Amino acid sequence: MLSLREPRNGRLVTITGPVRSGKTTHLEQLLNSASVIWDKGPNSNILLAKHPNDDVKSPGKVAGYDALETSSPDEIASHVTPNTEAVIISGINFYEDKSIVNLLQDLVLRNRRVYVAGHALDWNANPFPNMPAIMALSDDFIITKAPCMIDSCQLQATRSQKLEGESMRLCIKHHAFEGRPDHKHYLIDQIGGLEAFVGSMYASKTTVWRQKMKELSANRIDYEVFKWIKDKRYSERNKQYGLYDTGFIGFNNSDEKIPAVYIKTAEDMVRFIDGNTGIREIDERSAKRRLGHIFIDEGQFIEGIADVVRARVYQGYKFYITGLLRTAKMEPFGEIPKLLVLADSIDVMHGYCERCGREASESQKFTKMGDEWVPSDYYEDPIKPGGKEDDDEVVDRYEARCRHCIEIPNRPEPKYRFERYYPTVSLR
Ligand SMILES: [Zn+2]
Ligand SMILES: [Zn+2]
Repeated sequence: MLSLREPRNGRLVTITGPVRSGKTTHLEQLLNSASVIWDKGPNSNILLAKHPNDDVKSPGKVAGYDALETSSPDEIASHVTPNTEAVIISGINFYEDKSIVNLLQDLVLRNRRVYVAGHALDWNANPFPNMPAIMALSDDFIITKAPCMIDSCQLQATRSQKLEGESMRLCIKHHAFEGRPDHKHYLIDQIGGLEAFVGSMYASKTTVWRQKMKELSANRIDYEVFKWIKDKRYSERNKQYGLYDTGFIGFNNSDEKIPAVYIKTAEDMVRFIDGNTGIREIDERSAKRRLGHIFIDEGQFIEGIADVVRARVYQGYKFYITGLLRTAKMEPFGEIPKLLVLADSIDVMHGYCERCGREASESQKFTKMGDEWVPSDYYEDPIKPGGKEDDDEVVDRYEARCRHCIEIPNRPEPKYRFERYYPTVSLR
């Protein structure tokens, strides 16, 4: 259950799910927990806003509470005072102005707690314009769960659709749109989906992901693991790996290594799964397998991955993907944002800030300057796969940091220049 009685660092929580799946209930709980602490009215520490397209039957209200109704991020920003501790926005998916992303980021950087609620996907399972970027900025997610609204279907609804004028939440089996792929014949009893395992570097994303493999192995269910061809950590050094060769994935805290097939792009992975690589041994083996569980390591590096996942979940494939939520510049990383909007579950793993010990959501990058390691400049190249065990020639170093302690020299000034919020009310 959401409550404002949590650690008081700036953070963004996204509440998302299909239509009528209980997002407003979460906001109501949050607002109830807040109303016992703060006064309402102009001096309120809470700013509640909604988009005019959200819940049109209750103008100016969210879950019975008075809300600022506006489609303008600037107008929301103009209501932020030095006392504003939390900002809650309902119908976040309807904000088309890109400034909404700046607004959320700037609020969080200035130590506000921000909660946003809205659908990630439209009727055709395409993301609302700013939702991928908003989700990639988030520290935590609540994905609302409710059963499919088709009679007698007990499956979890993960998509939305308009049927005979009514907004419906549907499971992936009942969600229809033009160009929807057919179910793979041997996966007819399997419900496709995506589980995402994201976080900063050194957040043990892979360890939790590995548990999923162990569960499948215990039930003798076939799966395959893929990784990006340029990510050579844990594989034999000095060996040249080509497409579809097998390398390894290792873990920060153990000697265990698991084999993984090297791919360059998502298209390579599709050819492997479908038995169309042109390499006889691989294709003959693929034709005999009944592969329905796909693991992908460091998904931010795999080009085309979001489109493949979006289509293949309708065929019954289950994907398990790890990835870095943000780059070392605190910006969205590769196609991870587009995967987050498709995910049925998102595990966010946090490390600990190596400077202050609080929850770390960011990856601090350092560059070697002479004999010294210094925080990398904003205008340097993006993050590379690597870390503590990377090849000798890589001259970067990383550590986990919180938003307050990360240093990014020459990072552009924020659009909204809020004053930093300092807690004044003591919460028990
Ligand atoms: Zn259904
Ligand atoms: Zn810190």
